[in-house]
Amino acid sequence: MAQNQLFDYDVVIVGAGVCGIYQIKRLVDMGLKATVIEAEDDLGGTWYMNRYPGARFDSESYTYGYSFSKELLAEWHWKEKFSSQPENLRYLNYVADKFDLRRHMQFGCKVESAKFNENLNSWDLKLSDGRSVATRFLIMGIGLLAAPTLPRYEGMELFKGQSFHTYYWPHEGVDLKHKRVAVIGTGATGVQVIGAIAPLVKQLTVFQRRPNWTAPLNNSEISENEMNAIRSRYDDIFEACRRSPGGFEHEPDRRGFYEVSKAERLKLWDKLYDEPGFGIWLQNFREIFTDEAANAEISEYIANRIRQRVKDPLVAEKLIPKDHGFGVQRLPLETRYLEAYNQDNVRLVDISQEPISAINQKGLCTSEECFEFDIIVYATGFDAITGSFDRMHIEGIEGEKLRDKWKEGPSTYLGMLINGFPNLLMPAGPQSGSASTNYPRGIENGVNWVTELLAFMKKNAFERVEATEDAEKKWTAHVTKMYSTMLMRKAKGWFTGYNSNVAGHEAGRTRYFVYNGGTPKYVSTITNVAENDYEGLTLTRSSAGFSEDSPKHSSIQS
Ligand code: NAP
Repeated sequence: MAQNQLFDYDVVIVGAGVCGIYQIKRLVDMGLKATVIEAEDDLGGTWYMNRYPGARFDSESYTYGYSFSKELLAEWHWKEKFSSQPENLRYLNYVADKFDLRRHMQFGCKVESAKFNENLNSWDLKLSDGRSVATRFLIMGIGLLAAPTLPRYEGMELFKGQSFHTYYWPHEGVDLKHKRVAVIGTGATGVQVIGAIAPLVKQLTVFQRRPNWTAPLNNSEISENEMNAIRSRYDDIFEACRRSPGGFEHEPDRRGFYEVSKAERLKLWDKLYDEPGFGIWLQNFREIFTDEAANAEISEYIANRIRQRVKDPLVAEKLIPKDHGFGVQRLPLETRYLEAYNQDNVRLVDISQEPISAINQKGLCTSEECFEFDIIVYATGFDAITGSFDRMHIEGIEGEKLRDKWKEGPSTYLGMLINGFPNLLMPAGPQSGSASTNYPRGIENGVNWVTELLAFMKKNAFERVEATEDAEKKWTAHVTKMYSTMLMRKAKGWFTGYNSNVAGHEAGRTRYFVYNGGTPKYVSTITNVAENDYEGLTLTRSSAGFSEDSPKHSSIQS
């Protein structure tokens, strides 16, 4: 299709991560004039940025990779069951090079602002390199966990050693040998980095405000023979991912928690805890997510496993969460994390009891004690889901700012469109099917749907699409309502929008980020929407068409 001469592009995709890479592939195949604009110097998104030791999938590698190309599936050899960051970045580069996608990507320029142009039904972008770009459609592939947040301790700028957020782990690497290292934060990132660096450093001091439940990753290498076996069952693997709520091979145990004896439950948990991956979380009884008593029982089971693995009973007790049950926050999977606390060079400081009071030139002080460090690592998490949107100036109809609209929490239609922000699409947006699933599985569903919408618009010469106010209200209410049955609604985790370092995102101000209905239900919902002539969307034709070869002059259709 020839591009409309009024615009630089039919589509601009923001972000060259897992989402942007697949999205550009689909748009180029459709013949659209599309580009990816990426703030960083190269592609890879989360796998380009998070270079801390221990960074790796906790999805089985072969369920994380793209499913769209049989050739790619046949060629790529995942070396480990849970592949590490350097390999994941190599994979994404391999994909981009194989499909010659780099020439559709622009690196090192950031979209500073995006304003909807109501006269032309398009988006005007201002880039950090000074350019202005006009595009009919704007697709956000900006990542759900790409806005890192630091604590607000006094004196952080004074520290003379190296200090950084894990997201900004220096690309040239960090010499950890013989170093005294502090890690602040024990979420999924902290748990990975602590397990990986404990054997390498001279001294490791972990500052923990709240422990997280964890379970072992149980990683292993994948031999050539094993990889061949995986290749031969790729159809079944992706079918299982489509069937399961979380987009994994792990499917919940369909037996009722109370239908089986306690001995049976323990037998299942013994097996799942020692198996690789999220089985203990996602192959468990569904009641553990909704029923307090069921949750208390599995929590006690995991607490006992912690007690068995950590030698010092006082340390073990500190590592057992008391304020939330197992699995109601995003479960970090670990490798030698608990065993790290058995090492003489590792110390756990409970900053819920002795808070950090300040950072200074040499290290930091808690209310009880001062420490000296060579390196301070902030594993303090992200302004999740909406943070990357909030950090960009996005203006819709009549100058409405997205960050104002979403001040109390996001509202979307299907997690992919926003009323008042026409022609802005989010294949993996807040309240979409991606956030609560194995990301790439959710991303492929979102990208496929968005691509089909654009193909439909092109075919029918529509140039503007917007979610209706009513459809958005109903979707947001639906997403909100699903939280009411989940124990997760009470947890201080990013699923509920909690981040103590961002004003307004503290505990108790729940934001409804995650679609909890599971992959099959989400996919069937968005498929039905498309089959019902895109109900809930207003589609508009006009003369300055999306496709210059078939301009139409009719007005609003829905
Ligand atoms: P996180 O889960 O939000 O954990 C942040 C940690 O930092 C928490 O322990 C938090 O304590 C602590 N913290 C934050 N601010 C603090 C402060 N001011 N003082 C002291 N402690 C503070 O962040 P994350 O570990 O980066 O993980 C975020 C998400 O990224 C994960 O849930 C996961 O979805 C994703 N992730 C995935 C992988 C993977 O796929 N393999 C790996 C890493 C991360 P409180 O709990 O007390 O606030």
